[in-house]
Amino acid sequence: MSNLRVLAVDDSKTNRVILKNFLEADHAEVFLAETGAEGTALAREHRPDVIVLDVVLPDADGVELCREWRTDPELMDIPVLLISGERIADEDRAEGLRSGALGYLLKPFTDIGLLSQVHLLHQLAQTHKQLKNRNAELEASNQELEQFAYVVSHDLKSPLRTITGYCKLLAKHCAEQFDTKAGDLMQIVLGGTDRMQQLIDDLLTYSRVGRIGQAVEAVDLAETLGRVVDNLEVAIEESDATVEFDALPVVWGSPLQLDQLFQNLIDNAIKFHGQDPPRIHISARRIEERWQLTVADNGIGIEAKYFDEIFGVFQRLHTREEYAGTGIGLALCQKIVHHQGGRMWVESEPGKGSKFHVELLPGDPEP
Ligand code: ADP
Repeated sequence: MSNLRVLAVDDSKTNRVILKNFLEADHAEVFLAETGAEGTALAREHRPDVIVLDVVLPDADGVELCREWRTDPELMDIPVLLISGERIADEDRAEGLRSGALGYLLKPFTDIGLLSQVHLLHQLAQTHKQLKNRNAELEASNQELEQFAYVVSHDLKSPLRTITGYCKLLAKHCAEQFDTKAGDLMQIVLGGTDRMQQLIDDLLTYSRVGRIGQAVEAVDLAETLGRVVDNLEVAIEESDATVEFDALPVVWGSPLQLDQLFQNLIDNAIKFHGQDPPRIHISARRIEERWQLTVADNGIGIEAKYFDEIFGVFQRLHTREEYAGTGIGLALCQKIVHHQGGRMWVESEPGKGSKFHVELLPGDPEP
């Protein structure tokens, strides 16, 4: 017994009788409509599991009607099976499926032909609904986690400031009572609080992306890169690095976040240099509706097995003694890029440098 609720919209009485008989033999509850307008009204009233829709109706084109239903929040999730005479051209059949209908059945059809399609469409719609719910749940729990990370990092700042402050006071006022051992231990405590401060600040920066209303606008990346190079002046000079960039486009994004993105990538390219002084090149390529920006370096490179891992929060491939950092940089970059509607990935080989690719939406209509 199917227990399905099916709406059949067909102007031919004979077809309506056939549809009703086939569906009721499967124990479906059937609603019948003769016209498009009647079909829409019945669909709203009964919210059937599946709609079987004739392509040619006296008051409507079934394909157009289906397209309208796909944009109607009340009806968009009800699967539609189009039916038409067998002489329909292939192009019209394809157009029918492009309208958002999930199936196409040609007349004359058998009961098995009809029922198998109706059940298949119902199953598909159910699975789709489950996935949609699951996605909504995941999104809600992600937001909860982000809120949690934000609150925790924000609220931890104050007690940590108190601990650091009092440790410093203790070190200052009791310096004479401290023997060497106690002095060393105090330095370890202060080193730990500094590190914790850094981790909390990083976590806060990370959880702020997308949280506070960052204005999104057309951003000239040449200006972004100019600012970033100025900010990194000391590191560039100290490492004898060269930073070059081609003509850069205008992209869509938050100016502050794009500064953070390129600053992190160039900072890493300088930090993870090899034997030679760092050579960093930023290039841009238009690929269809996107700009692909690439930050290429001649540094130590990365093994392919770590290509995903390095984008995780606090994930690093080196100790702090080897290279300074907390491991938030690339996670922050990825979050920023996702937030601007793009994606990012890395191409690299150990010893042969790395290329970090970032895809962003154009800020101007034409390339
Ligand atoms: P951090 O720089 O604080 O370690 P990131 O999230 O920026 O954190 O980077 C994560 C890891 O990815 C780094 O520890 C490093 O191993 C690797 N990495 C990032 N950028 C580069 C690069 N340009 N060349 C080689 N390795 C890199």
